[in-house]
Amino acid sequence: MNARVAILASLVTATLPVASHAQPSAKDSTVVILLGTGMPVPNPRTQGPSTAILYGKRLFLFDAGSGVVRQMSAAHLSTAQIESLFLTHLHSDHILGVPDVIFTSWVFGRSAPLKLYGPAGTSRMTEHFIAAFAEDIRARTEGLEGAIRNGYRVRARDIRAGIVYDSAGVRIRAIPTPHNVGIPAFAYRIDTPDRSVVISGDTGPSDVLLTWARGVDVLVHEVVNMSRIDGRFPGGADIKTYMRTAHTPVEKLAQIAARTNPRVLVLTHIVPAGTSEPDMIKGIQAAGYRGRVAFGHDLDRF
Ligand SMILES: [Zn+2]
Ligand SMILES: [Zn+2]
Repeated sequence: MNARVAILASLVTATLPVASHAQPSAKDSTVVILLGTGMPVPNPRTQGPSTAILYGKRLFLFDAGSGVVRQMSAAHLSTAQIESLFLTHLHSDHILGVPDVIFTSWVFGRSAPLKLYGPAGTSRMTEHFIAAFAEDIRARTEGLEGAIRNGYRVRARDIRAGIVYDSAGVRIRAIPTPHNVGIPAFAYRIDTPDRSVVISGDTGPSDVLLTWARGVDVLVHEVVNMSRIDGRFPGGADIKTYMRTAHTPVEKLAQIAARTNPRVLVLTHIVPAGTSEPDMIKGIQAAGYRGRVAFGHDLDRF
């Protein structure tokens, strides 16, 4: 570590203290942190979709919606902790924060390539992001800021379903999900030595996901309240059909949860924004799920 990197690292540590969960302990514990529970409609209380898994000090991000890096700061997570970033799919609400992760981590001292995994198109998208920021890269490396040359680099990989990551006790599986016709999308199952977590990403009801989510400790799942998808909701004439098939209605999610029986079902990417929390919980219970369910809020931990 050169002197400049050391100063930057201490700066990051000073401004972004590592969360108490990240302190070494006799037994590393796995924590799920909702960085953003929102959907495309801008809402100041819900940032773009992103979920963090913290295992000891090791940080894994799933999706990077808008606001992701500031939410990390609010959760006392440092960009220096990011071990890998995984994308569920390439809809803009899930990737608007990717350049933020790439470039902010670089400005704060990243020198190794960021590891980024996602469906087909991820590598090409990353090349475009890097190209779009050419002037910023030039200014920071050729001017007086002295940014780490090549520190903005990303090792992006287009993945297929199956085990996509297996390192030092953390195993991550990509599960294909039905989201939008012709657009590949994945849920992820994360297994650490002490916990199992499934993050659905955006998905219609899926039997494949159900198989992998059976009995997990935490099931983080998207949900749509179809009774609120009416003429006021943006979209074309097919919006109801789209919402019913590309996303998971409350009643379907209740069935999935009843069949998978997670220790806790956590709702995220709640459509539409502003859905009433008691109504959503009651809807899931009325549809037959009696297990523990949590309406996810930004920065909640499980
Ligand atoms: Zn989405
Ligand atoms: Zn989507």
